[in-house]
Amino acid sequence: MDLNGKALSQTIKAEIAEEVANLTAGGNRPPHLVAILVGEDGASRTYVKNKENACSRVGFASTIKRFDASITEDELLAEIASINEDDGIDGLIVQLPLPGHISESKVTHAIDPSKDVDGFHDINIGKLTKGEDTFISATPYGIIQLLERNNIETSGKHCVVVGRSNIVGRPMSILMSRNDNPGNCTVTLCHSRTADLKSFTLMADIVIVALGRPEFVTADMIKPGAVVIDVGITRVDADNEKGYVLKGDVEYSGVSEKASWITPVPGGVGPMTIIGLMQNTLKAYKSKFAS
Ligand code: NDP
Repeated sequence: MDLNGKALSQTIKAEIAEEVANLTAGGNRPPHLVAILVGEDGASRTYVKNKENACSRVGFASTIKRFDASITEDELLAEIASINEDDGIDGLIVQLPLPGHISESKVTHAIDPSKDVDGFHDINIGKLTKGEDTFISATPYGIIQLLERNNIETSGKHCVVVGRSNIVGRPMSILMSRNDNPGNCTVTLCHSRTADLKSFTLMADIVIVALGRPEFVTADMIKPGAVVIDVGITRVDADNEKGYVLKGDVEYSGVSEKASWITPVPGGVGPMTIIGLMQNTLKAYKSKFAS
């Protein structure tokens, strides 16, 4: 059965919008997310635009601060410092990638951890690792909610995560192993050096795939009844109006016949990612305005 991220994201957006309406009814300002966009990268512009649209749908204020690719690292750091000081801003994200002359690590760590709604700051990653309350980065947060809201049992299950990136695979593996619900899995984290990947995925009750290789995971790699979460999104050339189709990392037609639950691409994990960002922004806001 499909894990419908599109429908769930709409439900949660409506919940956020209602909460924002209640929180602002007494005269408080709405939550405010600022996105910094450096340069003219087309994909980055689309991502930031989508975030701005999502903000307006839930009643947040949002600001996109656009800078030319020639901005210096010091200028960008000064901008971040001034946003950190601004009490009218709850969340700050810097759209990656940045031009080569700017250190992404320096920029990520310049953001006040209490405004780091992407959850990329070391302090927030450290808290996540220790199981403390923090901003969980958007994609893993979205996946956790897909599991939770569909009442998928995770406790005692074997979860195999394929891919160990800092934004998806690694935090996902930590979340699935934490003493919480969803969580309490026995976790195996696989990557490009894993020998005999199929022997691990075949053991899994839950498989979370974040590779960036279209249709890499096939039905013969999946145990009957497994839950399959497909994070991958790759544009593959196609003979249609757009000139491409979006493909996940899982070969959907075969795997969906074996899996108990599977996220489609598009419409699965993708729409839930933006929800994670909205919820983190609301959380940052509520730490100021709701007791
Ligand atoms: P990265 O490229 O950062 O990481 C890919 C991971 O896959 C690496 O850990 C790599 O291993 C591993 N890998 C690559 N080839 C193999 C292989 N043959 N066998 C086992 N492991 C392998 O990607 P991301 O995590 O950033 O993204 C993964 C996918 O998810 C992409 O398609 C991306 O577009 C998509 N994505 C979707 C989001 C959404 O909102 N739905 C959000 C974020 C990403 P190693 O570390 O050894 O190199």
